[in-house]
Amino acid sequence: MFFRENQLAKANYIFVTGGVASSLGKGIISASLAKLLQARGFTVTIQKLDPYINIDPGTMNPYEHGECYVTDDGAETDLDLGHYERFLNIATSQANNVTTGRIYQSVIDKERRGEYLGKTVQVIPHITDEIKRSIKLLGETGEYDFVITEIGGTVGDIESLPYIEAVRQMRWEMDIKCLVIHLTLVPYLKASGELKTKPTQHSVKVLLEAGVQPDILVCRTERHLSKDIRNKVALFCNVSYESVIESIDAKSIYDVPLLMRDEKLDEVVLKKLEVEYSGEIDLDSWIDFSEKLKNPKSEVRIALVGKYVELNDAYKSIAESFTHAGGSNECNVILSRIHSEEINDDNVEELLSSFNGILVAPGFGERGIEGKISAIKFARENGVPFLGICLGMQCAVIEFGRNVIGFKDAHSTEINPATKYPVIDIMEEQKKITIKGGTMRLGAYECDLVEGSKTYEYYGKAQISERHRHRFEFNNKFLKDYNKAGMKAVGINPDGGLVEIIEIEDHPWFVGVQFHPEYKSTVANPHPLFVNFVRAAVGAAEIVTH
Ligand code: GLN
Repeated sequence: MFFRENQLAKANYIFVTGGVASSLGKGIISASLAKLLQARGFTVTIQKLDPYINIDPGTMNPYEHGECYVTDDGAETDLDLGHYERFLNIATSQANNVTTGRIYQSVIDKERRGEYLGKTVQVIPHITDEIKRSIKLLGETGEYDFVITEIGGTVGDIESLPYIEAVRQMRWEMDIKCLVIHLTLVPYLKASGELKTKPTQHSVKVLLEAGVQPDILVCRTERHLSKDIRNKVALFCNVSYESVIESIDAKSIYDVPLLMRDEKLDEVVLKKLEVEYSGEIDLDSWIDFSEKLKNPKSEVRIALVGKYVELNDAYKSIAESFTHAGGSNECNVILSRIHSEEINDDNVEELLSSFNGILVAPGFGERGIEGKISAIKFARENGVPFLGICLGMQCAVIEFGRNVIGFKDAHSTEINPATKYPVIDIMEEQKKITIKGGTMRLGAYECDLVEGSKTYEYYGKAQISERHRHRFEFNNKFLKDYNKAGMKAVGINPDGGLVEIIEIEDHPWFVGVQFHPEYKSTVANPHPLFVNFVRAAVGAAEIVTH
């Protein structure tokens, strides 16, 4: 991760709101703007405010909310934080993701402690004050020139009103410099052959009703905005012509920073905030990565075996890690999601034999487990490069126990608490926990790598730190049996002796990890496990050391 000295005396606050429709890509626009400011030498962080009442997305089904992203400090957060880290190559933390649940919890806790001194506790000012406090927390660290705060949801939603009100109030605070970017949609109507600005006008009106005039409008569109359209948006929405930024559909999210640079989004922001800047912008390595993505020299097909195949967001960080690894190998990685419930020993060959690599995904619960085990058996027996992540690693241990060592019906106690061979078992400290939210083994833990192992070579060092999210683990009672049979524990947590990584000795590429490498892959630092997995899938022999 790289760090720079911040240049400005005080943090500037940039708010990103969304209108017209959800899923327009506020997270990517925020991350792209942050990337451009970073490339100009400023220090930037991004924060996501989520208007739902859950404390965090940790207890939500991926169908509700996509992947749950985990930070170094063990926060279970919105997947947009993954984009922020992947674009900026800096770590985020709990402070970067705030939910309505967390805001209310903190206000209610204060009320119980008597901190409101007998006052009636109300949405305004107490909830809005708490929101503003959470926003300023990052700015007040003194580490950042810019704090970009993305407000989840769409303007006009009842639940996001207190956030918009907090933004309105901050704009009037004397000692704060801030700016509002509103992301809208300019739809193309096929029947009339026209781009339509009315939804944007309405959306800005909704913001105005809440007392907020946006400074910049970023307009998502599938066709280029003409001068006339830009003028019209500017005129009706009270912004200058340069403040109407086109955000045309891009092939890859990694093109968006370059598109935003062409539209001068960063320059308009800097001018509006009256921040001096030079003409220099260092995007060389980003451009290099984006060129490699566009001009691959090879292609591999990877099967992602998991439970949530219809939903791209469910394994977001895994998919992005493959993009980074693909870029660094100049290889087009085609990722196909295969439903583990559909796989069995009879059809596994037909379903998986066309792939150059198999990844078995993280997950919880019984559904689809036997399919994952069939996929792993196939990879192990046929020398297909295999990467198992968290539950994927646990399934690899179960498979090896059953089919190689001869532990009949070996299982994880998560699925079969009565198994004779509990090769995966609940962690000691998890046994008494009954509360669901935020109680797993979460966040970054150290791991010592065994010298001479393949993983040691991939990382190129003896000690690593990776992020976790689990309650079960390899059962060390069986360690000797596994080692003897050729499945080696090659990564061990130094404090508790937990097995974090397994490898099969006489397999071309078979790695299982208890942690989530996908949370740490960035454009600037593609993850060594993904890089070498793709490399193995391409069929290359030599290893890339991190
Ligand atoms: N369900 C498993 C556990 O809790 C694996 C979790 C995961 O894959 N993230 O240990």
